[in-house]
Amino acid sequence: MAECKRCGRCCQDVRLAESPDMLERAYHYWKKSPSIDPNFSEIYLIFPMLRFLYEDRREDLPYHYRCVHYALDADGLPACAIHPIRPRMCRDFPYYDEAEHLDRSGPVSPYEGCGYNEAD
Ligand code: SF4
Ligand code: SF4
Repeated sequence: MAECKRCGRCCQDVRLAESPDMLERAYHYWKKSPSIDPNFSEIYLIFPMLRFLYEDRREDLPYHYRCVHYALDADGLPACAIHPIRPRMCRDFPYYDEAEHLDRSGPVSPYEGCGYNEAD
């Protein structure tokens, strides 16, 4: 069944199209804009929680980050330290429920072993 297996790979290796510089500039832009609700911007939320790991230009999502909220629970299982208020990109991962136009013929998640790549 397609579901999260709590392997923690997507939190230890968050893959984005945005570079650290792009994220930082967007973050400061939103922060200085009093007329814009900061909660409206996903970028405002995600920049402070990401630590840049590396870039691989051969990939569609070339920028790799680790999330500072990734943790282990009391049983030693991967967990999100801010689970009730985690950003939308995390709640909606792997995005396919509402994205009808996306190609579903291949793996829906870029992470090897991700439970969402298993058949329903
Ligand atoms: S990579 Fe997939 S199975 Fe692993 S934690 Fe993320 S969503 Fe869950
Ligand atoms: S906020 Fe939580 S679910 Fe989202 S990447 Fe970080 S640890 Fe994972």
